[in-house]
Amino acid sequence: MADRNSRLKWPQIDGIISDLDGVLYRGNASIPDAIRAFGEWKAGGLPFCFVTNNSTHTPDDVVRKLDAFGLAIAPKDVVTSAITAAEFIRAKHPDASRVYVIGAPSLVKAIAEVGLETTDQKPEVVVMGLDRQISHDKMRIAVEAISHGAAFVGTNPDLLLPTAGGFEPGAGASIAAVAAATKVEPLIIGKPEPHMIETALSRLGTARSATLMIGDQVPTDIQAGKRAGLLTVLVTTGVPLREDPSLAPPDFIVSSLCEIEVAPAQAGCARQRRA
Ligand SMILES: [Mg+2]
Repeated sequence: MADRNSRLKWPQIDGIISDLDGVLYRGNASIPDAIRAFGEWKAGGLPFCFVTNNSTHTPDDVVRKLDAFGLAIAPKDVVTSAITAAEFIRAKHPDASRVYVIGAPSLVKAIAEVGLETTDQKPEVVVMGLDRQISHDKMRIAVEAISHGAAFVGTNPDLLLPTAGGFEPGAGASIAAVAAATKVEPLIIGKPEPHMIETALSRLGTARSATLMIGDQVPTDIQAGKRAGLLTVLVTTGVPLREDPSLAPPDFIVSSLCEIEVAPAQAGCARQRRA
């Protein structure tokens, strides 16, 4: 995959969909080239939308975090797996009202905002996201409910989450444990599934062929982009690249978002750098 960039020219780019963790920041540390590139794209009028598997962020959290790094965005520029999971449960289980949530306050809030009750009493749906206070007792309640027929929804399959100093276990690690105990496979909302990408595309209103998907993980970001019919860019600032021949490779690999060449009117730091 290493010489892929030399063979392919950058296409016409009218919009960008991008991951956040490992692309814009690692934990609480920003990735300066990425902040600069998005700042230039925004100044040039290139629309973008962030899609994050991380269910512990609300769109407002992301707005505040990026603002502190010097990038001003709006809540509508962020699609989270928590909100997408809540909307999915509401749509696919219209008769369900009781949901057991293992996850951060942002996931509990998203479930409440679509009119569902969060409870550990006879839940009809179990939804799991990243929960840094996860316990054996929470896992037991989830396993019991799913074994008694509750639907099993996972916000995202990520096994690892990049932090400022390394990695921590992602939601996928706990979801996998409950799946192993119940022998029930969860319905996954986040990337590599296309739900969030489709939401982002509808917000951007751009053609698939002129929309880039940027991410740091081949199994999630790149596969989601491919499934949605987008050109994909892997940036090597996040989770280390693991070659897996069973997965579709990215169309481009960059070490900095400044390498992405967009039309002159929207040129970012890549053009400045060459000048
Ligand atoms: Mg990432």
